[in-house]
Amino acid sequence: MNLVSSTKSPGPASKDSYGRTIDYLRISVTDRCNERCLYCMPEGYKGWAQKPEHLTAGELIRSVEAATSLGFRKFRVTGGEPLIRKDIIGILRAIWELPGTQTLGLSTNGTRLAPLAREIKQAGVRSVNVSLDALDVDLYRRITGGDIGAVLAGIEAAREQGFEVIKLNCVLMRGVNEGEYVKLIEFAAERAMPLRFIELMPLTRTDVLDDSNFLSIQELMSRLGGVGALTAIDNYRPGHGPAKYYEFQSDRLPSPARLGFIGAITSPHFCETCNKLRLTADGKLRPCLGRLGEIDLLGSLRAGEDPARAFEEAIANKPENHEFLDRYVPGRPMTAIGG
Ligand code: SAM
Ligand code: SF4
Repeated sequence: MNLVSSTKSPGPASKDSYGRTIDYLRISVTDRCNERCLYCMPEGYKGWAQKPEHLTAGELIRSVEAATSLGFRKFRVTGGEPLIRKDIIGILRAIWELPGTQTLGLSTNGTRLAPLAREIKQAGVRSVNVSLDALDVDLYRRITGGDIGAVLAGIEAAREQGFEVIKLNCVLMRGVNEGEYVKLIEFAAERAMPLRFIELMPLTRTDVLDDSNFLSIQELMSRLGGVGALTAIDNYRPGHGPAKYYEFQSDRLPSPARLGFIGAITSPHFCETCNKLRLTADGKLRPCLGRLGEIDLLGSLRAGEDPARAFEEAIANKPENHEFLDRYVPGRPMTAIGG
């Protein structure tokens, strides 16, 4: 499949109205998933975009190519679960082959990683993020509806392929997975994988998870202080996201763990370094995860317009910060936006 049209050349970096360089695009290739995590797509969700509303592989690559003309260099493919899309390998390869692409990452729940890890690596993916909220078989199933065995096999397969970096992601949920954090840290340290703890964002139904399930990164850090020592690592950034990294030493660990903390809700300066836009599977550009505004890229593509204009509009409309703390009501759940 040759998806690259090469009508656009890579251009200089773009800045938004607040002086932030915007060079990172999270690309959702599907709003569907083979799991149904409590915080992302609880059971019963029916808001799927119909297929004709999805970007085709060709439209997707034209959009990413337009992004490179405005200085985008870093791309992460996500979803929904990106590995359930049948043409995913061709999409990854085509993004990697664009002249403007500097880095290409993939976010996955890991369930389909084992059979695909080799092709994903060959397609050009440099870094893989795998969601892992629990190691306990039953708890993992309760949170995600899925099978932890397939995820662990996927993580091992990715290790064998030697990706530059494999990160693990855990969403903090009070009363749900609090008993798993130390086990997850041990698991990550044994494999020398960075593990990131993410504050729960209000992107799900409140009858499934609500404010009482929120656990801040500060609370986790002070709990970890009771079992070991956390030391900030200033120059360590194994990705392009907003995590702050620490080394965690404890008698329980074979070697220090590298822990990332993503405090989207409680970190006062969280939005100051935001460098990204999101592209949804149904072709909307989302300047901010925690605000409802979207720009219709698919509509302009299908009207024969230059997709770069939609990117310019999205950059110009990027707000200074999110509205998660202002009784934010998500227009659609995380699975439909793209994590
Ligand atoms: N299916 C893939 C996966 O699970 O990694 C990629 C998509 S998922 C939406 C991307 C990331 O978003 C995951 O790490 C997931 O834990 C995180 N996420 C989803 N909903 C969230 C929420 N409400 N709050 C915080 N993180 C969330
Ligand atoms: Fe699926 Fe990932 Fe959302 Fe879980 S977090 S429901 S695996 S898209």
